[in-house]
Amino acid sequence: MANYNPNLVKIHRNYTYEELAMVFGIHKNTIAAWVKNGLPCIQERRPFLILGRDAKAFLQQQRMSKKQKCKQSEFYCMRCKAPVKPYDNFVEYITISSTKGRLMGSCENCESIVNKFVSYTSIEVYSSFFKLENQELGT
Ligand SMILES: [Zn+2]
Repeated sequence: MANYNPNLVKIHRNYTYEELAMVFGIHKNTIAAWVKNGLPCIQERRPFLILGRDAKAFLQQQRMSKKQKCKQSEFYCMRCKAPVKPYDNFVEYITISSTKGRLMGSCENCESIVNKFVSYTSIEVYSSFFKLENQELGT
């Protein structure tokens, strides 16, 4: 994926696919692809809405993992500014929707919270190298 500037997204507003696409001058199908790749999206009613802060976090994560070449078993730590392993390999899965969630752990170097947006179907892969706990939130 191309390098989109996360700072163009306003964290206090919500975006439809069209609005977010307009921010970057891209087609809304690209936004749909981001959602497929783990960008959280509120799909309870139409139009689907993306929270600005989620879009920003998603783009930051994409940008950093691209730059730093995070392995699947690593997280990007904002404080260490490097790919890191989660402390004790312990990671929690937090459900965002039926198809997506967020992996959360703490950096083994500085103990900051580290996150990774993933699709529900990839959990099995992650559980092969993380001690994965599935936490249901907001059910
Ligand atoms: Zn760290």
